[in-house]
Amino acid sequence: MKRLRVLLAASEAWPLVKTGGLGDVVGALPVALRGLGVDARLVLPAYPAARQALPDARPLARSALYGADITLLRGELPAGGRRMLPVYLIATAAFDRPGNPYQNADGVDWPDNPARFALFCRAAAALALGHLAPDWRADVVHAHDWQAGLLPALLSLHTQRPRSVFTVHNLAYQGLAPAADAAALGLPAEWWRFDALEFFGQLALIKGGLVFADRITTVSPRYAQEIQTPEFGCGLDGLLRYRAHALVGILNGIDAEQWNPATDPALPYRYDAEHLDLKAADKAALQQELGLAAEPRALLLGLVSRLVAQKGIDLLIDALPHLPADVQLVVLGSGEAAYTEALRAAAAAQPARIAFRAGYDEPLAHRIQAGADALLVPSRFEPCGLTQLYALRYGTVPIVRAVGGLADTVVDASAENLASDCATGIVFETASSAALLAAIERALALFRAGAPWQQLQRAGMAEDHSWEHAAGAYLELYCHLLDQELPGA
Ligand code: ADP
Repeated sequence: MKRLRVLLAASEAWPLVKTGGLGDVVGALPVALRGLGVDARLVLPAYPAARQALPDARPLARSALYGADITLLRGELPAGGRRMLPVYLIATAAFDRPGNPYQNADGVDWPDNPARFALFCRAAAALALGHLAPDWRADVVHAHDWQAGLLPALLSLHTQRPRSVFTVHNLAYQGLAPAADAAALGLPAEWWRFDALEFFGQLALIKGGLVFADRITTVSPRYAQEIQTPEFGCGLDGLLRYRAHALVGILNGIDAEQWNPATDPALPYRYDAEHLDLKAADKAALQQELGLAAEPRALLLGLVSRLVAQKGIDLLIDALPHLPADVQLVVLGSGEAAYTEALRAAAAAQPARIAFRAGYDEPLAHRIQAGADALLVPSRFEPCGLTQLYALRYGTVPIVRAVGGLADTVVDASAENLASDCATGIVFETASSAALLAAIERALALFRAGAPWQQLQRAGMAEDHSWEHAAGAYLELYCHLLDQELPGA
């Protein structure tokens, strides 16, 4: 059978550029798909960081699209063993800005983001259709989040076209543009309707995916249900209920090589479930690195996150004055100034108990996952969440709110679940600092008891969240769309 050709389009992909879970997923999924025999390829904007990370990328084609000069570059990333992942970069002036892909140096979104990513989608559509580089075209285009949202819509204008899948990593980011800017994007006039791209008087690029893609996926089954309700639907729940037959939740995997405590180069001590004493050594090293009291009996909580309202950071900040005495906390994150200032002040007031590191630091994120006893994820909503999955693998007990992928992946340490040995963490229901504190107190009691804590650690470490499973589910979806049998079926 002919090899299935899949083009994944997104605004970030680890290791080229990453600001959050989207980058992790888009980096790992095509690699796992290639492992399953799919001709998966990636297309990304050619930010300076992406070009630096792919120095061997060569120009393949030039074109003018809506007044912009585009160069299509092609490079490769390692994809396990001797396999390589072809990566296309769309180079044009709009992406030639250093730093964060979406924001200027002050953390403010570039005002022309809708236009930048609309241009990216035009180029990606031309690539997928074989119009830019005629030696390859896609059978399936898999577009991710609003930055690639226009892609399924643009493809729908062609009769001979690839099938399209649109994955929602976070419905709260919608790619909104005022009507005046929308006009300049040169989109078909009939798209300015509520059942196309118009959204309460604005343009919403995410609707290009939600309305026009052949299939919609989200990154956990629970989130697929939640976004069909007004509480989590961000105004799009009606549309998602309408498209419910085309919507499915596929739980993200994790890169089990990059996140492996037995081989992780960022850790002072590497360990596995049989050597948790070495995890204790990582804890001591982390306490020392952060200037926390060298206290093995303190429950060390970690949090690695974007510091935004979604993540429930305010719940934690409100809980800080009430943290039990033998609890320590380290927060690594970047985001809103009010959270950063409150965390900095709390750390300054109690440096032996609370540490805060502002900014983005991948190796420190690994050391926290290894050195902390428990990982906090008190999110208001969470499409999937990756940090709790890393925590499970590192024997770090996740303390999570019962939403989205957190609810799908962490099993609460109730007496019943402990008795049947399926518990992996602490799950709390209400988005309040009181509920978060109660969860921390439950964790502390289990930690002090010793044996049930180790039971949680071992149960989490025994789970398999690698990408093979999720990639298999996507492959099944692609084959279904093309009316093809699964390879090997
Ligand atoms: P989201 O995509 O909403 O930001 P996820 O939990 O899905 O949340 O993914 C977050 C990813 O970003 C994880 O890989 C996490 O380790 C990483 N991350 C978040 N903030 C930081 C930071 N300040 N430094 C290093 N890594 C971070």
